[in-house]
Amino acid sequence: MEKTGKLSIHTDNIFKIIKKFLYEDREVFLRELVANAVDATQKLKTLAEKGEIKEDLGDLTIEVKLNKDKGTIHIIDKGIGMTQEEVEKYINQVAFSSAKEFIEKYQEADGKIIGFFGLGFYSAFLVAKKVEIITRSYKEPEDKAVHWECEGNPEFKMKLTTKKERGTEVIIHLADDASEFNSEYRIAEILNKYCKFLPIPIKFQDKIINDKEPIWLKNPQELSEKDYKEFYKVLFPNNEDPIFWIHLNIDYPFILKGILYFPKLKPYLDPEQNKIALYVNRVFITDDLRGILPEYLNLLHGVIDSPDIPLNVSRSALQLDANIRKIQNYISKKVADALKELFKKDRKHYEKIWKNIEIFVKYAAARDIKLFERVKDIILIKDIEGKYYTIEELKNETKDKQTDKNGTLIWLYSTNKQEQYPFIKEAIKKGYKVLLFDNIIDTHFIGFLESQLKDVQFRRIDSDTISKLIDKGEEVPPALSPEKQQELIKIIKEALPDVPYSIEIDSSASGNEIPMKLVISEYDRRLQEMMKGFIDDTSAIPKHYKIIVNANHPVWTKILLKPDNEKIKYMYNLARLPHKLLSGEEFSEFIEKSYDIISKN
Ligand code: ADP
Repeated sequence: MEKTGKLSIHTDNIFKIIKKFLYEDREVFLRELVANAVDATQKLKTLAEKGEIKEDLGDLTIEVKLNKDKGTIHIIDKGIGMTQEEVEKYINQVAFSSAKEFIEKYQEADGKIIGFFGLGFYSAFLVAKKVEIITRSYKEPEDKAVHWECEGNPEFKMKLTTKKERGTEVIIHLADDASEFNSEYRIAEILNKYCKFLPIPIKFQDKIINDKEPIWLKNPQELSEKDYKEFYKVLFPNNEDPIFWIHLNIDYPFILKGILYFPKLKPYLDPEQNKIALYVNRVFITDDLRGILPEYLNLLHGVIDSPDIPLNVSRSALQLDANIRKIQNYISKKVADALKELFKKDRKHYEKIWKNIEIFVKYAAARDIKLFERVKDIILIKDIEGKYYTIEELKNETKDKQTDKNGTLIWLYSTNKQEQYPFIKEAIKKGYKVLLFDNIIDTHFIGFLESQLKDVQFRRIDSDTISKLIDKGEEVPPALSPEKQQELIKIIKEALPDVPYSIEIDSSASGNEIPMKLVISEYDRRLQEMMKGFIDDTSAIPKHYKIIVNANHPVWTKILLKPDNEKIKYMYNLARLPHKLLSGEEFSEFIEKSYDIISKN
């Protein structure tokens, strides 16, 4: 018996359309066909378990073969197979209608679909000029096997044939524009990417490609630290051990399994893309999780496996999907819970790993206000001596001394202990606590914290004189009369004719503090840092420094009596040093001048 027929089709071009849509992602054909082979094998096992099949199932290994000479790829399973009626129904009708449905969805979604589940068997035509199926149902004898073939047009051929073994062989005759798949390396690469964790052994070139267990499906109670670390090595063979991990495991109201690893994060922000892979029932779908997971999770590594993530939709539709929002919320909560647990269990250890996780916690908190609410009690802030405080602890520690006249608690911070040391020293002398915010994300994070902690303001240690950084409203008697102040400003301006900065007389500092310093206001500095993100040439950003003159320093009394431009210039250069404003020729002159002074005495 030989039958030819016409697929129930509306457009002759269906394969061409699919091909056009998916040209870049053509490799998924192999995933789809192997997944079908796995399904067919699983169904057989289920029937055997139910006692509906009595005979020994034998070896169920699925084989993928490449015949380079003929340009064919063979996917061979020993699953349930199909009868003639089933081929008619599932391949000619069902599979085809899913291909049609796919196209409709794809057009709706404007070509931005994430996964291609539902395309299934017909994805073979992404790479094939002809596809054959030779299949024998577990219900049929050897001579009642079915041979189906189709050349990518609406006509197909179907006839009975003889097949010794139960199961299905799909043969792909690679099209001329798909020769890239006529390569062992490429096939192995695709299998390794999509099929590494499938539940039935898959053999290619005499090697089983899926001998690793997907431990995310196991009960966390059964797993040891070693298991988690070993599995991390399977995913990321070249990475250092992770710091800790979170096992996601929920069955209701949606199913989601997975493991998120906290890698040793570098102290700079580097959200590596594509480090979390999405699986559906062990089949790899994508590692581009934009729209599926909150983007801050890009800092973590791992896998998630969920049949409840809608794949046949566009990314913009994902944002509105209720399941996606529930999943995002669940993950955010799990991450927060895990961090809180670590903090509670062993504060010392938590402080030790803080430098590796702070960038994640700060970035995530600033991105996800709900997450911030959950972790705000375990965010650590370090002082200049390396001691850690939670926000509450720090408030208690500083509120007596560092509340200004308006009732605002001022937190002083340094971004560089070495460079800003002269300023830090003055604050410490006053009994103030100086915090260290030296992470790349801190500028952003400080702004965020201020917006959340209404009663706290941050000031960098070099942004004003110490009495103005925390203004207690104390009246300080001026060290110089208004006339003398004017005179001094005039003398300094004459000594520094090209300096564009304004000059301010400070009477609050003591006589043994630095006579002249440069400050840049918190506001101006933050503005500059913000602009850095937009402007390539950062030297073009104007810098609004202020020269602060400590009127109580004895040097000024001398200078008022006898102006000395050299001395003023020298002090000005000293003031520029902690800001790294002295370089090149000026710096070299400064050094020469210093040696002059040494040699004079
Ligand atoms: P899906 O797998 O999503 O149902 P497919 O287009 O991939 O859609 O396949 C359609 C149907 O064809 C399957 O549901 C199955 O019944 C049948 N089928 C496909 N491949 C095989 C196979 N290797 N063995 C047995 N049946 C298969």
